[in-house]
Amino acid sequence: MSIVISVPAETRIGEKRVSLVPDIVKKLASTAISVHVQSGAGEHAGYSDDDYAAAGAQICQDDNLLATADVVLTVNPLNNDQLQKLRENCILIGYQNPWTDTSRFEQLRAKQVSSLSMEMVPRISRAQAMDALSSQASIAGYKAVLIAASLSGKFFPMLTTAAGTVRPSKVLIIGAGVAGLQAIATARRLGSMVEAYDVRAAVKEQVESLGAKFVDIDIKAEGSGGYARELTAEEKQKQQDILARHVAAADVVICTAAIPGKASPRIITTDMVNAMKGGAVIVDLAAEGGGNCELTQAGEIVVHQRVTIYGPVNVPATVPNHASELYAKNLFNLLALMVRDDALVVDLEDQIIRDSLITHGGEIVNAAVRERMQAGN
Ligand code: NAD
Repeated sequence: MSIVISVPAETRIGEKRVSLVPDIVKKLASTAISVHVQSGAGEHAGYSDDDYAAAGAQICQDDNLLATADVVLTVNPLNNDQLQKLRENCILIGYQNPWTDTSRFEQLRAKQVSSLSMEMVPRISRAQAMDALSSQASIAGYKAVLIAASLSGKFFPMLTTAAGTVRPSKVLIIGAGVAGLQAIATARRLGSMVEAYDVRAAVKEQVESLGAKFVDIDIKAEGSGGYARELTAEEKQKQQDILARHVAAADVVICTAAIPGKASPRIITTDMVNAMKGGAVIVDLAAEGGGNCELTQAGEIVVHQRVTIYGPVNVPATVPNHASELYAKNLFNLLALMVRDDALVVDLEDQIIRDSLITHGGEIVNAAVRERMQAGN
């Protein structure tokens, strides 16, 4: 009997990604694995049912494919209807929103589902090829610069024309993690002058190697697992005092600073926006976590004193073809840890599996999620 891997169509509004792409279906489909894809699942990402069928998938007309799956692969968490249909004892892999919405985990636990959260994949070298937060952040960083360039009334590059010379735009990137570094590279490719700031002093070299200037504030806030820690009130004040000058000089500010599981740090105050040039643009990738700018409203364009502040949500879904390709590769690499000799194994000895699991064997196995559920959050 073969392992059935199912790919439902995503139901989140505005979602255009799909969890598996035909190239990965081709790699998976074999005598031991059958891949079932819901009709239309890849349509918005540029993949037709015919593409999936040609790669060896079986196309299913509705989401009943959830009831027969050994493994379900998603981008976003399943909705209530889908959860009802999900087969008991199966494996579910995708984003699970473990920090914001724990209500679904009780249903997954009761169905004895082994649910793995792509947000919980540990940041160790062996897991890099499975790290969807990184693959999707990189896409968001790239797209944020394109969004900013189209909202700005200025060129990014320096241009010398018969009518005169135009100075390049000054771009400030706040947060130089995966998204921030990609934003720096993209803004540089467009020819702008780039400055970047991060609380992790270790990124200074990476910023400079991309041709940007590092704004040094002398705060070292390296936390665990490659993440930043929260700043103290005194550190926040110091950060704001120095950053204010750089924000005021910028034509474009791209915010990417986040602390997983916590509200995004407020870095740009209304006073700082008031001091910006007319026509300046802020694109706040931290909008879904509350925003790095005090004036950010998730999903909205706000114009405040001639400064445009946009907090786009689900940016990777706006580059759905490549975002799905990279995400599917992340899933494929994670699946490779579980498919052994044509059977599925949830190996709790493997740190990647252990850290990523939220429910398993009828238990909530992730301690942080369990504590939040017990506290009623
Ligand atoms: P993230 O999305 O959590 O945060 C984005 C950036 O914002 C980070 O660089 C963080 O330091 C910064 N930040 C947080 N609070 C800030 C503040 N108050 N002011 C300014 N900046 C602030 O992080 P990320 O981009 O996903 O990853 C961070 C780092 O983790 C990467 O650069 C990398 O070194 C490491 N990483 C390792 C692996 C792995 O080994 N598998 C995978 C992914 C990332």
